[in-house]
Amino acid sequence: MGSGIAALAAATFLIRDGGFDGGDIHLFEQQERTGGSLDAGGTPETGYTMRGGRMFEAEFRCTYDLLAGIPTLDDPSVSVTEDILAAYEELGWDDAARLVDADGKITDCFGEHFFTTNPWYMWCTTFAFQPWHSAIEFRRYLKRFIHLFPSFASMTGIQRTLYNQYDSIVRPLQAWLAEQGVTVHTGCSVTDLDLAPGPGTRVEGIRLDRHWNLNKAAA
Ligand SMILES: Cc1cc2nc3c(=O)[nH]c(=O)nc-3n(C[C@H](O)[C@H](O)[C@H](O)COP(=O)(O)OP(=O)(O)OC[C@H]3O[C@@H](n4cnc5c(N)ncnc54)[C@H](O)[C@@H]3O)c2cc1C
Repeated sequence: MGSGIAALAAATFLIRDGGFDGGDIHLFEQQERTGGSLDAGGTPETGYTMRGGRMFEAEFRCTYDLLAGIPTLDDPSVSVTEDILAAYEELGWDDAARLVDADGKITDCFGEHFFTTNPWYMWCTTFAFQPWHSAIEFRRYLKRFIHLFPSFASMTGIQRTLYNQYDSIVRPLQAWLAEQGVTVHTGCSVTDLDLAPGPGTRVEGIRLDRHWNLNKAAA
C-alpha cells in the first residue's frame, strides 16, 4: 500500500531477497505522484518545491543495503548507495557553526536546567524538536541517533543524496521495480482489507477506490 520508501523497499526486498516475480507485485498509491514524503518537483518556470530533505548517516545500513542494488539514472554502472556516499565525500557537511536559539521544552521529563545545556540545543536544532513533541519520540531519537553526538557541532556524520531524495532515491527505485515488472497504480486508494478468519493476521482481499482523486474532488 502506498508508494513511499516503505512500499518501494518492500517490493525491492520481495524481489531481491524473497525471489518474488515483480509481475506479481502491485503498489496502490492514492496520490498521482509516487514517493510519499520523499517528494520534490517543479520547473524553472513555476519554481521548485520539496517538503524536506532527509539526513542519512553511516548507520542507515538497511537503506544503503536496499539502494546498493539500484542503479542511478545518470549512470547505470553506479548504484544509488555509491552515488550518495560519493556525494557525501565531495559535498559533505563541515559547518563552522549552526547553533540557533531553542525556545522549546519537554518539561514532563526534564528540569529547567536541561533546556539550557548545549546537548539540548544540539539535539533540538538537529531534529527539530518542539515543546509539544512527544517525550517517547524524543527517547526514540535519542536511542537511534545518540552515536552521532560527537559530530553534531560540525554535522560531519550526516550524509545526503546528490540530488533531492525524489530524484536520487524514488526515481531509481521505481525504474528498477518497473524493469522487474512491478505495477504502480496511482490515484488508487486502499479503503479496507479483508482479514481471513482464524488465528494470526492474513489478508485475503484488498478493497480499492480506483478513482480516489476524482471522488475526493467531487465530494
Ligand atoms: C519534515 C520531515 C523531516 C524528516 N527528516 C528525516 C531525516 O532527516 N532522516 C530520515 O531518515 N527520515 C526523516 N523523515 C522521515 C522520513 O521522511 C519518513 O519516515 C519516510 O519517508 C516515510 O516513508 P513511508 O513510505 O513509511 O511513508 P510515506 O512517505 O508517508 O508514504 C506513504 C504513502 O502511502 C500513500 N497512502 C496513504 N494511505 C493510502 C491508502 N489508503 N491507499 C493508498 N495509498 C495510501 C500516501 O499517499 C504516501 O504516498 C522526515 C520526515 C519529515 C516529515
